[in-house]
Amino acid sequence: MSSSQPLKSSSSSQARAEELRRLLNRAAHAYYVLDAPEMEDPVYDQLYRELQALEHQDSTLVSPDSPTQRVGGRLAEGFRSVRHRIALFSLDNAFNRDELHGWYGRLLKVLDRAPAEGAPPPALAMVGELKIDGNALALSYENGVLVRAATRGDGEQGEEITANVRTISSIPLRLHLEPAPAWVEVRGEAFIPDATFHAINNERLSRDEALFANPRNACAGTLRQLDPSVVASRRLDFFAYTLQLPDDWQGRRPLTQWDALQWLGDAGFKVNPNAGLLPDLQSVEQFFDTWDTERRQLNYATDGVVVKLNDLRLQDAAGFTQKAPRWAIALKYPAEEAPSRLVRLTYQVGRTGVITPVAEFEPVALAGTSVSRATLHNADRLAELDLHSGDTIVVRKAGEIIPEVLRVLPELRPEGAQPLDLPHQCPSCDSELVRESGEAATRCVNSSCPAILRGALRHWVSKGALDVEGMGGKLIGQLVERGLVHAISDLYRLDAALLSSLERMGEKSAENLVTAIEASRAQPWARQLYGLGIHHVGEVNAKALAAAFPDVDTLAQTAIDHPEAISELHGIGSEINQSLQQWFNTGANQKLIQQLQDVGLSLATSEQERQDLASRNSTIGVLSGQTVVLTGTLPTMSRTQAKELIEAAGGKVSGSVSKKTSFVLAGEEAGSKLEKANKLGLNVIDEAGLIALLKSTET
Ligand code: NAD
Repeated sequence: MSSSQPLKSSSSSQARAEELRRLLNRAAHAYYVLDAPEMEDPVYDQLYRELQALEHQDSTLVSPDSPTQRVGGRLAEGFRSVRHRIALFSLDNAFNRDELHGWYGRLLKVLDRAPAEGAPPPALAMVGELKIDGNALALSYENGVLVRAATRGDGEQGEEITANVRTISSIPLRLHLEPAPAWVEVRGEAFIPDATFHAINNERLSRDEALFANPRNACAGTLRQLDPSVVASRRLDFFAYTLQLPDDWQGRRPLTQWDALQWLGDAGFKVNPNAGLLPDLQSVEQFFDTWDTERRQLNYATDGVVVKLNDLRLQDAAGFTQKAPRWAIALKYPAEEAPSRLVRLTYQVGRTGVITPVAEFEPVALAGTSVSRATLHNADRLAELDLHSGDTIVVRKAGEIIPEVLRVLPELRPEGAQPLDLPHQCPSCDSELVRESGEAATRCVNSSCPAILRGALRHWVSKGALDVEGMGGKLIGQLVERGLVHAISDLYRLDAALLSSLERMGEKSAENLVTAIEASRAQPWARQLYGLGIHHVGEVNAKALAAAFPDVDTLAQTAIDHPEAISELHGIGSEINQSLQQWFNTGANQKLIQQLQDVGLSLATSEQERQDLASRNSTIGVLSGQTVVLTGTLPTMSRTQAKELIEAAGGKVSGSVSKKTSFVLAGEEAGSKLEKANKLGLNVIDEAGLIALLKSTET
């Protein structure tokens, strides 16, 4: 679970509260009444919490029109409104473990069970249920027969939609109970399974109608259809989760939430099969963690888990706040989108001189990590966003995906905010920036720009290139700043005495560094080529090029005279011709090659490499034509080593498992790739298996 913080206010709290109220009320109307949300749910949630925090700090900010003062939706026109026999509440949310523990502590206090100082809190049994992302329904049965169904509405009154609800086949029209109680109130969630949601949207697309933003809105829109036959065609589903019975009923009366779920199942309702009876808070956390992953396998949307006190008498004792039960809490899954406030826009100068604007914003928790910067790509993206100073932005980060700024909320723009644009001068060397027509990138074209040099050096020493251990970004910064290095080749002239004069550099580490730099001379030609940092020449292309052209001169000659010969190589696209031609035709790059050769770098296939290749060729074919996928951590080899071995034996390494995969090499903590391989019935081997395979055919 992640932590979420209210955004700090730069304008006065009162103005901010007003802005937030206006924005949230408009969003709630779009969401609840029009079924067409204007913003992402996590963005709504965080702005809502910011307003709550402001109101909490200063109660004079609370106004009757504040969205914090009422439960959910409003009534839409076209349906009769009905008063609920028992009000429908919302749920309080917890966005991280601290908030869960805070809720539990408050609950114990209300129940008079708070532990003595220093003592562990007593364990109360709870039920964990999935929080289905649908719409709450109130179903009223009289003498076992469904007589009325209503939406939650504002909690006190909802819209009467009985005719529509009758079309939901998982809702019994008569309870499977003999004798039935005089009345029963059942609450649960109507929802649209994912596949049906996509089918509905596809159909709407073909009719040029507006698409539903998500299954919850599609479900709400469907329940409010005036024609029940349309509702029937949308195949809604329903999970029941709450039960109310008359006090004087003599039949079997559940005493716990767990039994209530059982009761509902016996009475003919569909009950979500994934609920869990949880003895303590620790098992609640485990239940949450499990479902945070498992939910992706479900065919309906969930946005968290709901935790409810199991004992119904204790629930009664705990009671309700103005909006929500004290005995339940919704634990929300970590948000993948959230609003934040732009702190400043900075500009990065890449090793090719490309200027990338970077938004730095107040830290937000996204997909379980704290995020505070995101690149904005180029001037076009900046213009498209219409970013101003102090803007509230919506940031997205899903899992491993790099954070991005999705959009700006202009409604929350502070007065007098200035539009932001790329600078005209390079932030590093102050020379005029250039943007060529038809190009998205704005560049610094000064070949001695320190930022470009730093980038080029960082790339040259990086793992996939010359792999110089101990040469980090900070050290490179010092070398460039002090004028000790003006070009990559200068690295090979550094001596230990000079290096040890730098900050945080002892004699021993200076010596080690010199040894590492010297050792890097022996790196294969493919790595040297990759290290040059030519646009489009990544590790894979560098390998293919180095295998086809034995040295830099042959490659340069071909790139300039017969570029088409390059794209005839397997797997090399034609955009690389152009890039290589341009690169080798540039004076500064020709100078760089000369300088590297002058300090003794071969920029060519070495004798050793030639011999290795020849001996490999004699065994090639072991894995030739085979595609291998690597997953997890291998006990002794790094992934790069395993990849090199597989490729040396003629195999290809691919990033994704498919039917075409020959086998999967799996190590510890192998994840979804292994699962998929097993599903497809593919051969899975471990590191020892790989070694055996390579050895068996070596002779
Ligand atoms: P909620 O959705 O956070 O939680 C309460 C609801 O959970 C209940 O009414 C019920 O329908 C549902 N639920 C699902 N499974 C349940 C279970 N097993 N047990 C009990 N209840 C279960 O609260 P809410 O008041 O319905 O809606 C507020 C939410 O709506 C906000 O968190 C926000 O994300 C969203 N919203 C979004 C916008 C927007 O513009 N995107 C606007 C307004 C509200």
